Amino acid sequence: MNDPRITPPQATDFDVAIVGAGFAGLYMLHRLREAGFTARVYEAGDGVGGTWYWNRYPGARCDIESVDYSYSFSPELEQDWQWSERYPRQPEILAYLNHVADRFDLRRDIELQTRVTAAHFDEQAGLWRVETDRGQHVTARYCVMATGCLSLPKQPDFPGVERFAGDCYLTAAWPRQDVDLTGKRVGVIGTGSTAIQVIPQVARQAAHLTVFQRTANFSVPARNGPLPAAEQQRIKADYRARRDISRDSLFGVPVPMPAAPRRTRDIPPAELRQTLETLWAQGGAMSLLAAAPDVIADPEANAIVAEFVREKIRATVKDPKVAELLCPSTHPLGTKRLCLDTEYYETYNRDNVTLVDLRATPIERITEHGLRTSDAEYPLDVLIFATGFDAMTGALNGIDIRGRGGLALKQAWAQGPQTYLGLASTGFPNMFLITGPQSPSVFSNMVVSIEQHVEWIADCMAYLRQQGIACIEASAPAQAGWVAHVADVANGTLLPQTDSWYVGANVPGKPRVFTPYLGGVGPYRQQCQQVAAKGYEGFELG
Ligand code: FAD
Repeated sequence: MNDPRITPPQATDFDVAIVGAGFAGLYMLHRLREAGFTARVYEAGDGVGGTWYWNRYPGARCDIESVDYSYSFSPELEQDWQWSERYPRQPEILAYLNHVADRFDLRRDIELQTRVTAAHFDEQAGLWRVETDRGQHVTARYCVMATGCLSLPKQPDFPGVERFAGDCYLTAAWPRQDVDLTGKRVGVIGTGSTAIQVIPQVARQAAHLTVFQRTANFSVPARNGPLPAAEQQRIKADYRARRDISRDSLFGVPVPMPAAPRRTRDIPPAELRQTLETLWAQGGAMSLLAAAPDVIADPEANAIVAEFVREKIRATVKDPKVAELLCPSTHPLGTKRLCLDTEYYETYNRDNVTLVDLRATPIERITEHGLRTSDAEYPLDVLIFATGFDAMTGALNGIDIRGRGGLALKQAWAQGPQTYLGLASTGFPNMFLITGPQSPSVFSNMVVSIEQHVEWIADCMAYLRQQGIACIEASAPAQAGWVAHVADVANGTLLPQTDSWYVGANVPGKPRVFTPYLGGVGPYRQQCQQVAAKGYEGFELG
């Protein structure tokens, strides 16, 4: 381990360079300004909003309730903003984030249409040198990566895709103008969270929709609907308490941590059935997981709840063969992202929808006029790819990040991400990650996790400034301990066994490592607080 001390700080263009202007980058900028730091945000898109700027596909919607999937840092903001639905649609979340950018006067420090291509730590000067695709070279004492966990979509690589004569759309880069699918024969490839949102919408418009499914996923009904003003008022009257419960919870939603959770197998069957029926009727994927936490750890508990969901699928889908294809059989419930839907399974009762099982009949190629599987040709006018993301590390690896001695982050993480608390990585002083790998991140209501990281990072920088410390770096032993702890917690569950994007299995060549921290949002927050309270224990300060 190198001596973390660096030469006295030189003047920099900004105290902090922030990459990304989604929920994380916007709040980071605001918080740093409040703490008296100068900061600049670089955003590749031509608007703020991150996920909610890029993902404009029909049906794009959050699967956490609007009143919870929102910033809590400003009591005035949370009281003023009125949500129209229980689960907000993409345009509403994007409008909210634009409102936040205006309300807190953030835009003057945000450079849009500017992609950060490189960030190199200059050891001599003790600063980060940041380069953009517009030829800018800026220096900053700190670099904060607010680049998003799900911001680098996987590009479709099916053979023949370039020969397709119809229109192709990637859900994560959906055009701004309306896409009219009326009268079209549309194919959707993928049946993950996004596809489950897009499929019911497309089915309503298209002449015919063919869904190409490789893996059936578990989905829970959202029970979405308008959020009446009185109900919103009631929630907002006691907002602090609700937010506190979320912060201390397992997944960042207002379901308290069970004090003495009963094992699912110890609950009398009739009572368990009643609980599951109630949760199903209420809707909400996170609530289902939070109410029965052993579901992700105990195969027996998982089998009970999984079979309950399969029963619901069979009861909804009229054609028994189609229902069986839609019943997940390849993985335990919750070990791939549990989806939330509005009339997903019902959509397969429509005459204009066909489900194709790609496990039985894989895609051979995309042709000029459609898609050929091993047993049939499907003529199509439009292809929609809902094929997921290079999650957790994709956007970071898209930047040439170099730390001490020119060490490339890609190299340091060649066997999988290595972080301390998901916030920092050894060899990369003064660089922070928001919702980085090995933090609760995608296994939580991400706004809660983002706020916690932003506040921890800003407090850390203020502490360093106050103490006259120029450099902070995760120590190698602390990092090794954290990585081992994250793996231990994950290995106590069923999740690492499933091929999912949580383990990078959807990206060929990616090291298979389970990346989110499963210890729960509340316990994780406490650990971060303890580290700070002990003078940033596990970090080397110099
Ligand atoms: P993002 O919103 O991803 O923003 C990152 C930004 O960084 C992007 O705008 C990107 O353009 C920019 N960027 C990346 N690299 C560079 C670079 N090199 N230079 C410049 N800019 C760069 N989370 C939930 O909790 N609940 C949900 O229901 C939910 N639904 C989702 C639905 C979809 C379709 C997707 C894709 C994600 C969903 N998420 C959900 C996760 C969601 O990403 C987070 O909730 C949250 O929006 C993340 O905010 P962020 O600022 O961390 O990252």
